[in-house]
Amino acid sequence: MTPVKPLNHVISNCPPSGIRRFFDIAQQMENVISLGVGEPDFVTPWRIREAGIWALEHGHTTYTSNSGLLPLRERICRKLATRYGADYDPVTECLVTVGVSEGLDLSLRVLLNPGDEVIVPEPCYVSYIPGIEFAGGVAVPVKTDSCDGFRLHSERVAEAVTPRTKAILLASPANPTGATQSREDLARLVDLAASNDFYLISDEIYDRLTYVGEHVCLGTLPGARERTIVLNGFSKAYAMTGWRIGYACAPERIATLMTRVHQYTMLCAPNISQFAAIEAIDGAENDVHEMVQDYDRRRRLFVNGLNQIGLDCYEPRGAFYAFPSVRRFGLTSEEFAERLLMEERVAVVPGGAFGPSGEGHIRCSYATSLAQLESALERMDRFTKRLAAA
Ligand code: PLP
Repeated sequence: MTPVKPLNHVISNCPPSGIRRFFDIAQQMENVISLGVGEPDFVTPWRIREAGIWALEHGHTTYTSNSGLLPLRERICRKLATRYGADYDPVTECLVTVGVSEGLDLSLRVLLNPGDEVIVPEPCYVSYIPGIEFAGGVAVPVKTDSCDGFRLHSERVAEAVTPRTKAILLASPANPTGATQSREDLARLVDLAASNDFYLISDEIYDRLTYVGEHVCLGTLPGARERTIVLNGFSKAYAMTGWRIGYACAPERIATLMTRVHQYTMLCAPNISQFAAIEAIDGAENDVHEMVQDYDRRRRLFVNGLNQIGLDCYEPRGAFYAFPSVRRFGLTSEEFAERLLMEERVAVVPGGAFGPSGEGHIRCSYATSLAQLESALERMDRFTKRLAAA
């Protein structure tokens, strides 16, 4: 007999990611310029790959301790201390995870009881809302707008707070907008969290890809440490998406429970990737610097180009995304993206994939060569001129 008992209703009701659908279509077409992918176009720097090879050759193919190799945790905490003045104990307050993705999942599972609310500034990274729901929580979006650089207004957050508010989940720099939040706005948020007793989950995966101003590590703000989980990883800054390596830093009482879930569900992050990550911290600073400069050049060229062809785009300050408005063309962001792909073979992601507040925009990743970006701009120019003439 065919089984008929329903599968998990939260997961069954969760729509598939709006990013994947466009990838799948684009992959079956020829001559497509993809601005859809949210990952570096660089290969992992050679010295990091070499460290991975070394680890393989020397038989580091077993599990590591659940929390991760201590020398790696020591380096992570030291790096956070020297760069941002953060203060985390590598033994009790730092956990090596399978990417920031696992760190997000662990944070939500550890913080939430069924029905707890998590405030999410929107538009937001596609995994946040499903992740909250999978952990039994309820996502409460707070709108941010392009007109003021997607600033997160604490008054708007305050309006969304209820007795069930357990946490806020935010990223600065952010995906899909490239927006960063100022130290003052983040401090106001921390005050709000303290006065209403909720936690802060800070996804800082794009910290090194900050082009304007300085990155603020949320856990270092006055009053934040005890209620903040800082998540970060190696995917973006070191071009290591496929190595699946990240980390979480949090006060001991939270880190201990995160480690407990990780211990039962994941055991540990990949051993050879941990060796590679050690080399990334020790030796790849110049590589990071060069990649960041390259992204910044592309950012300036691409964002200027978008504005020149009438795709209004505020200046993204971090990450590697531009999030221009397509409102004036009278199409939904999905229609715009679909026609751009079919008619001009440029793949972008419709803004609605990042929540209703993303509607009216498209996300373009500029983590691709300058030559490709220039061709994409030419094609987009042709496309928008045709739309405007119709
Ligand atoms: N957080 C944000 C904001 C992202 O944009 C991404 C990937 O695109 C992730 C987390 C996932 O990162 P990781 O590869 O470390 O799992």
